[in-house]
Amino acid sequence: MESTPTSTLKYYDQMNLPGSEPQVISFSSRHFAGLEVSLSRYKRRWFITFPRAYGMIAPQRILSPLNIPDDNMPEEHARNHFWYNPSVTGNENQVPYKPDDPEARLSPIHMLLDGKAIMRTIHYPDVPQIARMTGRMRSERSSSQDYSKGKEVVCYEVEVLIPDEGLLRQCYYCLAWEASGPMKRWKPCGEYMFWCGWCQSRGWLVSSTTGAWGKLLRDTWTPLLNKNYYRPRDSLYSSP
Ligand SMILES: [Zn+2]
Repeated sequence: MESTPTSTLKYYDQMNLPGSEPQVISFSSRHFAGLEVSLSRYKRRWFITFPRAYGMIAPQRILSPLNIPDDNMPEEHARNHFWYNPSVTGNENQVPYKPDDPEARLSPIHMLLDGKAIMRTIHYPDVPQIARMTGRMRSERSSSQDYSKGKEVVCYEVEVLIPDEGLLRQCYYCLAWEASGPMKRWKPCGEYMFWCGWCQSRGWLVSSTTGAWGKLLRDTWTPLLNKNYYRPRDSLYSSP
């Protein structure tokens, strides 16, 4: 298995201003009308997310899950690899992947593999990829209730080329999302978990009431976040 090229990581390092924190890496592609998207992860589950609210188009921030977590994948490998499973995306008729396929509108794997990074408002057309296929394929059981229900589906292994710091984070306690552009990043508050500045500043309260405070915040905020939207909960942390 090839490792992430050093040149790619160096490039993304240079995208961050000297002395500032690494920022969220957002990207766009022809497959989603050039709209800005980002990548997020909770444990071994990956998502395409919106790095900003798009009003009625995207009152929530999770656009599409990308995979079913693979607990058998070695830890080191799982940090930047996953098996893209089209049955989890709700758009499973868009495979196989063909580079820059003009017919592949709204296809999550096309958005990801053909995506070009955006730095603030400047669009660089020739930047290194966000992710690429490793060339390995395998079958997984479909999780769809629709097209491929009960069948095996072909899955592709994907290598993520951007560093972990470039992924969009969500606050574990109040479910607030980060945004693209210069901002103070959410800090880690546990393995795979982050908290926003507001929750971090009340960390004594969070820790003194353990899980109950987090549950209270989430139960209060989640219905508000879900208003006018059909998905039951917009949370990275609700996945297994
Ligand atoms: Zn918070």
